[in-house]
Amino acid sequence: MSEILYMPATAMAAAMAAGELSSREVVAALLERAGGTQSALNGWLQRTPERALKEAHAADERRAAGKSRSAFDGVPVAYKDIFVTKDVVTTCASKILEGWVPPYDATVVERCDAAGLPMLGKANLDEFAMGSSTENSAFGPVRNPWNTTMVPGGSSGGSAALVAAGAAPWAWGTDTGGSIRQPAALSGVVGVKPTYGLVSRYGLVAFASSLDQAGPLARTVKDCAALLGLAAGHDPRDSTSIPAPGATDYLAGIEDGVEGLRIGVVKEFRAPEAGVQARIDEAYGRLEKLGAKLQELSLPSFEFGLPAYYLINPAEASSNLARYDGVRYGPRRRGEDVAQMMSRTRGEGFGAEVKRRIMLGSYALSAGYYDAYYGKAQRVRTLIIEELDRAYSSVDLIVSPTSPTTAFRIGERAADPLAMYLSDVYTAPVNLAGNAAISVPCGTSEDNGLPVGLQIIAGALDEHTMFRAAYAFEQDLGWILSPEGNPGNDLTAARKGGSS
Ligand code: GLN
Repeated sequence: MSEILYMPATAMAAAMAAGELSSREVVAALLERAGGTQSALNGWLQRTPERALKEAHAADERRAAGKSRSAFDGVPVAYKDIFVTKDVVTTCASKILEGWVPPYDATVVERCDAAGLPMLGKANLDEFAMGSSTENSAFGPVRNPWNTTMVPGGSSGGSAALVAAGAAPWAWGTDTGGSIRQPAALSGVVGVKPTYGLVSRYGLVAFASSLDQAGPLARTVKDCAALLGLAAGHDPRDSTSIPAPGATDYLAGIEDGVEGLRIGVVKEFRAPEAGVQARIDEAYGRLEKLGAKLQELSLPSFEFGLPAYYLINPAEASSNLARYDGVRYGPRRRGEDVAQMMSRTRGEGFGAEVKRRIMLGSYALSAGYYDAYYGKAQRVRTLIIEELDRAYSSVDLIVSPTSPTTAFRIGERAADPLAMYLSDVYTAPVNLAGNAAISVPCGTSEDNGLPVGLQIIAGALDEHTMFRAAYAFEQDLGWILSPEGNPGNDLTAARKGGSS
């Protein structure tokens, strides 16, 4: 059974194709693991065991009849509870959507369903994806399988924890300022923020629409490449979807190596935690050893990325969240008139961080301050985009740490929003620019034994080069989550070979 739990999705698919494993066996093992780890991790908001078993059965029948829907037919998946799912409660970890049953599926869900992926359930997150620790969920924090007194990162912390704990081979998350890459780094898994517009946002609960992007989390680079390939591509229902994004088979050419690639090391991004930077420096050395040409790269405007992000993000969020008015979705509080009903519904339905963003965003957009705050932040965004464009004329990829620190203790940053916001200092600028980026594990910190992630940033729509480099690095390091050698507790999965 433990072989199933930590089997990469690509290996599950191969075993199913060879007739050595059925989708039902896989789903049954994962459901058991999900049940056994839920009280310790709180990674799930909804589980859909009956549906998963039914879909697994159907996948096995299709395979037996030679009518598989895709190479991954029968490999189950988890969705961050920000993806709307027909007939399955979707709350986005907010009380304001408690009990809401969507009447349709997000495009990502529809496409994974068309590929035959059984749905295991919906993963916990920070309320409306606002946060870096998953402590902002209205339904309790998620815990890190490496150490359950620590956060798994966020906002896709449920997806990351489930994948790290062997409760799902892969999962979908969303990344607005780092919410796939940062939890991937803190939980020891791989996470990808694709180019803005590559994956449809149709059916994602909207947070900051010019920054939001859906992407995969998995234990291996190839699994992330494969899951992305199942859902990427134009969707006429999303007006910002890229019409012709090119070939979306990200496994093609993934083993081509990094020989000759020019990689820029961001001079300004050095992690303050020594144990993190030590692994990152090692990672740079490894890429060089593999034949990449590393050069120092200065991106001075990135310093203003986080402040610009924390104006643009709340501005867009405040406008997107206006729709939760007690009329159209979720529970309604009583009031003497409509205004009081709305204010009570919103007052009781939203958590503290959501209210903070609505207030900050409304302020930044208000008539007298619009140009001083929102307008200026948008000009900084243009500077960042131009700086990155210039950088890609001399390099193929850019590398940095994913997160300044390893996982932190539950409660440690909860009372200090600014400390929490700093978690995204290396990731948020990439969302402002729209480029693709991946976080790939590079071992554990010598200070505390917790995972460290390397961020590899590619040019827009250059996911292929990004995956090539990440795969070469992962293979050379030989560090992939497996059930062997658990350091600390029974949920913890550990490294396999490699240095760290
Ligand atoms: N932590 C960042 C924020 O709170 C990023 C969130 C995200 O990417 N969804 O905005």
